[in-house]
Amino acid sequence: MVILEMNENGHKWEKQNLVTLTSSKGGYDLYVCANCGIKGKSYTPGFIEIAERYRNKAMGCPNCERTKVVRVTKCVAVGKEFEALVPGSLHTVVPPPPGQNNKRGEWVMGATEPVLLLFREFTYVD
Ligand SMILES: [Zn+2]
Repeated sequence: MVILEMNENGHKWEKQNLVTLTSSKGGYDLYVCANCGIKGKSYTPGFIEIAERYRNKAMGCPNCERTKVVRVTKCVAVGKEFEALVPGSLHTVVPPPPGQNNKRGEWVMGATEPVLLLFREFTYVD
């Protein structure tokens, strides 16, 4: 049994029952994570109990959309948009612009618009 705080570990809990359920341990609500599908029971508001077989997933939702941050190591692109992308600077990853993708790197905000940092130009920050 794993007990988590419901707002931690990246899960997106959705209550499954309209009326509180009961077991030998008392009343509880059944929740399913909309991201990874694991189930849990909440006996105490804000806390959720998860079966042992889900332990690995419970510790960190595998499908959660965490904000990604990158640290620039070097940026070979030049121009006004890239002025803030100096080595050591931190930038939040933004979604690729329409028609673009993130196969070659990650998009971050330049001076006025998203710019592509290539994979060899940054490292991920936890
Ligand atoms: Zn999850």
